[in-house]
Amino acid sequence: MTQTEEKTQAPDTPMVPIEKIVSLCKRRGFVYPNSEIYGGVSGIYDFGPLGVELRNNIRRYWWWSMVQTNDNVVGIEGSIITHPRVWLMMETYIGVVEGERMKTYLRGEACQNIYLDYDNVLKSSRTQIPFGICQIGKAFRNEVTPGNFLFRQREFEQWDLQFFVHPSEMQKWFDYWKQFRFEWYKGIINHKDRLRFRAHGPDELAHYAKQAFDIEYQTVLGWQEWEGIHWRQDWDLSRHSQFSGQDLSYTDPETKERYIPWIVETSGGVDRTFLNLLLDAYEEEPDPTGKESRTVLRLHPWLAPVKVAVLPLQKNKEELVTTAKDIHKKLRRLMVSQYDDIANIGRRYRRQDEIGTPFCVTVDFQTLDDKTVTVRERDHMTQVRLAIDELPMYLLERVMWK
Ligand code: ATP
Repeated sequence: MTQTEEKTQAPDTPMVPIEKIVSLCKRRGFVYPNSEIYGGVSGIYDFGPLGVELRNNIRRYWWWSMVQTNDNVVGIEGSIITHPRVWLMMETYIGVVEGERMKTYLRGEACQNIYLDYDNVLKSSRTQIPFGICQIGKAFRNEVTPGNFLFRQREFEQWDLQFFVHPSEMQKWFDYWKQFRFEWYKGIINHKDRLRFRAHGPDELAHYAKQAFDIEYQTVLGWQEWEGIHWRQDWDLSRHSQFSGQDLSYTDPETKERYIPWIVETSGGVDRTFLNLLLDAYEEEPDPTGKESRTVLRLHPWLAPVKVAVLPLQKNKEELVTTAKDIHKKLRRLMVSQYDDIANIGRRYRRQDEIGTPFCVTVDFQTLDDKTVTVRERDHMTQVRLAIDELPMYLLERVMWK
């Protein structure tokens, strides 16, 4: 039995079928089925040229907002293969001599590395409780029913924060990170009414957990977990102390009180974020300037794989092409820029809309006279005229996270 903490209105805009996203991802180079030429492997995917840009932006934004802009949080990157006493999941073997090879396990969740490295981080980074450790890393699960594209895979990527606190401050920090993570997701989606908390019922709670919440997002799959906010108490560090024989207790430098820190965990998925963002951003709308409908990915400009496309109005006018290439070369030092001169300008705009490029810069005949260009914005298709010199700052202000 579960409870819903916040009830939200059913949205009136239609949900996007997963098939539309699968098709767009394949057609435009976001995601491909793994080993497709051999028939594929269910629940495993590869990311193409645009997919890897989007994925990197998602990861980088998480890292920036969780680690780099929180003074009391640091990051690690742990290995995937770990001592056999830590995991019970996918087997693999290390060593080259037959008979002397050691059975190890691919991790089923990324967070264990954080507990394993907790003591090293504490001793090497001048951190003091309360503080957090973040990690983004691959996890592997023999899911019985992988499916729904990236939603449930066998190889996927998780992001975790483990925040270590004094027991008396557990509730305060739990509430803080719960709200922080909710606002984080809310900040990168368009359909804010499709995000909610779901409180775990008593039958779902781990025995040490006072409470737990899922941040859920509503798609054609229904309301589904996007990230979990967990009350882990002293469970993990106590268990690792017990099994490893290493004392993982903390001594407060001022009061000299000795205790096992309690932990607030926030654990989400890069791949689920990738999928949810595409489902949230995808829209087909009639094009007011033509007869065809346009497909537009209304991705947050911070996350869009390509930030700007530079387009000469005509391909066969050398001066237009040279100027456009020159602008593109300057912009690509600052952000991902694409140069495109294939097909008429309307089709080029639509190609960029479909992959979520927030800005298109068009070089036309007026540019040759007064060194100004047209900047067309994706969502409302509005255009402004700007001096070429003003372009870098104008775009940076709109595509860099703040
Ligand atoms: P679910 O209930 O959906 O199976 P879970 O409770 O097992 O998820 P956790 O173990 O809490 O998930 O993992 C944290 C996050 O990792 C999830 O919120 C989700 O975003 C992501 N995740 C978990 N399993 C998968 C998977 N098989 N494929 C893709 N992402 C996953």
